[in-house]
Amino acid sequence: QIDKYLYAMRLSDEILIDILTRFKKEMKNGLSRDYNPTASVKMLPTFVRSIPDGSEKGDFIALDLGGSSFRILRVQVNHEKNQNVSMESEIYDTPENIVHGSGTQLFDHVADCLGDFMEKKKIKDKKLPVGFTFSFPCRQSKIDEAVLITWTKRFKASGVEGADVVKLLNKAIKKRGDYDANIVAVVNDTVGTMMTCGYDDQQCEVGLIIGTGTNACYMEELRHIDLVEGDEGRMCINTEWGAFGDDGSLEDIRTEFDRELDRGSLNPGKQLASAMLGKYSTTEPHLHPVKCIYFEARVLLSCLVRNRNNKGFILGAESDSTVVLGPGSPWTRSSARPGNVRCSVSTNRLPSDMSLRHCCFTWARVSSCHPRARDHHNEIKIKNQEGFLSSASESMPVYSRRFHKTLRRLVPDSDVRFLLSESGSGKGAAMVTAVAYRLAEQHRQIEETLAHFRLSKQTLMEVKKRLRTEMEMGLRKETNSKATVKMLPSFVRSIPDGTEHGDFLALDLGGTNFRVLLVKIRSGKKRTVEMHNKIYSIPLEIMQGTGDELFDHIVSCISDFLDYMGIKGPRMPLGFTFSFPCHQTNLDCGILISWTKGFKATDCEGHDVASLLRDAVKRREEFDLDVVAVVNDTVGTMMTCAYEEPTCEIGLIVGTGTNACYMEEMKNVEMVEGNQGQMCINMEWGAFGDNGCLDDIRTDFDKVVDEYSLNSGKQRFEKMISGMYLGEIVRNILIDFTKKGFLFRGQISEPLKTRGIFETKFLSQIESDRLALLQVRAILQQLGLNSTCDDSILVKTVCGVVSKRAAQLCGAGMAAVVEKIRENRGLDHLNVTVGVDGTLYKLHPHFSRIMHQTVKELSPKCTVSFLLSEDGSGKGAALITAVGVRLRGDPSIA
Ligand code: ADP
Ligand code: MG
Repeated sequence: QIDKYLYAMRLSDEILIDILTRFKKEMKNGLSRDYNPTASVKMLPTFVRSIPDGSEKGDFIALDLGGSSFRILRVQVNHEKNQNVSMESEIYDTPENIVHGSGTQLFDHVADCLGDFMEKKKIKDKKLPVGFTFSFPCRQSKIDEAVLITWTKRFKASGVEGADVVKLLNKAIKKRGDYDANIVAVVNDTVGTMMTCGYDDQQCEVGLIIGTGTNACYMEELRHIDLVEGDEGRMCINTEWGAFGDDGSLEDIRTEFDRELDRGSLNPGKQLASAMLGKYSTTEPHLHPVKCIYFEARVLLSCLVRNRNNKGFILGAESDSTVVLGPGSPWTRSSARPGNVRCSVSTNRLPSDMSLRHCCFTWARVSSCHPRARDHHNEIKIKNQEGFLSSASESMPVYSRRFHKTLRRLVPDSDVRFLLSESGSGKGAAMVTAVAYRLAEQHRQIEETLAHFRLSKQTLMEVKKRLRTEMEMGLRKETNSKATVKMLPSFVRSIPDGTEHGDFLALDLGGTNFRVLLVKIRSGKKRTVEMHNKIYSIPLEIMQGTGDELFDHIVSCISDFLDYMGIKGPRMPLGFTFSFPCHQTNLDCGILISWTKGFKATDCEGHDVASLLRDAVKRREEFDLDVVAVVNDTVGTMMTCAYEEPTCEIGLIVGTGTNACYMEEMKNVEMVEGNQGQMCINMEWGAFGDNGCLDDIRTDFDKVVDEYSLNSGKQRFEKMISGMYLGEIVRNILIDFTKKGFLFRGQISEPLKTRGIFETKFLSQIESDRLALLQVRAILQQLGLNSTCDDSILVKTVCGVVSKRAAQLCGAGMAAVVEKIRENRGLDHLNVTVGVDGTLYKLHPHFSRIMHQTVKELSPKCTVSFLLSEDGSGKGAALITAVGVRLRGDPSIA
């Protein structure tokens, strides 16, 4: 007969795997917004977002309420002395009349005990941060708030369910009025246990309790947690798995002992899984918490007894020993039906089988908690450790050995290690408090640094206003020589009108790529533009060599292109897109003012680049070219877009550098004779701020990036916006944060020290919304930066802040431009299109949106559309060349 009963207690692997599957489903339901309200496993977010990193320190108080004893601890963490944690604790009684009385009584009692503790330790005047381990299912919306869902175990105080226990405790403390406490964090004992173990080994990401009740927690990806905002990072989930089965889903494996036990409990129908695993209380309040199971054969199967002076001992014979309960033992007295109980058990089989079920069952669930098992990525081995607090397993070594064995069988591909929590969950609660403290402090410092990058609307308005002032200075004759924003006339007087016609060569020099193009423009009813191009590289030693070398290289590329296209021979008209600030006195002449970006070739500044090109062609004596126009890339871009969209009167570049141009009224262009019509002005806005007018918004990081650039002190606006610099700004912030210990465990690695390693394309990748945190980590890994999840979040935040500022500044600049055009024309409202080119604008996931938004906010009287230049500036350069060729016949204009 015994065998028959025991048979029902045995769980085969098949059944365990079935339970595992059911539990996985329950977990999923608990995490989902739609199913959570009806889910039996509540999967409660704990707002604990990271495990200890060893840098915690300070002096804390921990309350531990909800286990078999009520403890108060003082935990001092001193991480200088080799992770030194000292703890003093007192155990306080929680009499039954209080546990089952009113909530006010209960919390008054807790406050009294805390007062007594502080008195004893002489810390009443200290206002130490308090961590509160409250081991009952609670809804949390932040770390220092916990609304009790339902009492479990032996607690049943009235008026607490549905209330915030922190508020209740604070109220009780205030009522006493003789000391102050700052309750920083409420945690479940599972969380406390995980954190306790996590302090010693940072790989511990699961916490497990098998004691008076059973429960587990683990670190979950935030994006799987519907009930908490945000997708980045992780949060500890308190599974409250004790309730698994409360919806009847475990009926098939519950035995009649389980049902019997449930009926006799304080909360029948609840915490069924807990009852099948953990100790349990009887209806006899004075004999807490004794779990007893009996059946008609009056055979005691197993029990875990804890008597009143809290000295736990376990009646679970795991060896050949025989457990005998004497008539005077608490067990005998506790029996609800003493007559039915036989007080001795003389077989070792029963408890073993019982605990076998116990451990199999638990691990079926731990396995499903196991992230790898859950994701079916079983091929990957990971190490996890269970923060493992359990009086049952302490006393029953076989029990825990079986746990481990069962888990390994069920999730064979996971490498799980177990760590016994030596010091309970109180230390963990202090750790959570410490982490909450550290994070708050760290957060404050990080925010303080990043605040310099977060620009208010007011600041952006100011930037817009200042740029407007600089624009006027550049346009005026008497101020032009001192102006930093040069407002260079381009001698392009109108956007294309569709009559342009012919075959043209175009060069595009000034960015990452050097391109040579053949552009065939056909006018007439069906306008077409056909383009062929080839990309050439310009080696660094040529970019920064002599001018002759640079131009010889350019001409050799043209020669190659003409051969490639088979058009070497006739003298072709050429438009030279040259994306550096040039003084133009004519369309076909551009005197280089200064190199920017990565260029530094000698003997070019102060010279006409069209002549330098012509000279190089002559030196080669191989073919001839007709250099018709020197075109800035902004102007080329504007023309390219204007060919398709006549409202396009602005050009913008956000690539390696940044710059803009727009159609200005001739009467405002004092540097060029004549007051009729318009002319495109190449603003060279990259230099905005070079006179110091932006120094109040430039950060120390901007200054460092500037200092190490080729053109220190120059292009200050550009250096806050464009692709060549954003990555560097980010890298410098990361170095600062690492030095302060917020990142990479305070280790500044070689890669991080390497200038230029953090390219702006990585900002685009890291900030992509589609990217999971793991992928961010992979990117950082590629760069040689070994990052944790938290590191990745912070890196992403930094990237976001830097690129957002860039987009906003760019938008503020654009707002100044559109507003000027609107005022020029005396319009109440302006509709205008901006032609844009540049890889940063095109490929960054948020730059364009933020920039558009900023323009909209800062210039409400303008409707600004943005048109992406698909064909670059080469087509525009060819169009300008076409006009130039035509105008040559008309000396009155040229
Ligand atoms: P240029 O401005 O030199 O003519 P681009 O418009 O292609 O050429 O811009 C090149 C710059 O764009 C690079 O210097 C780099 O900083 C930046 N960049 C390259 N790839 C990306 C990307 N995926 N996201 C953002 N910026 C990028
Ligand atoms: Mg370009």
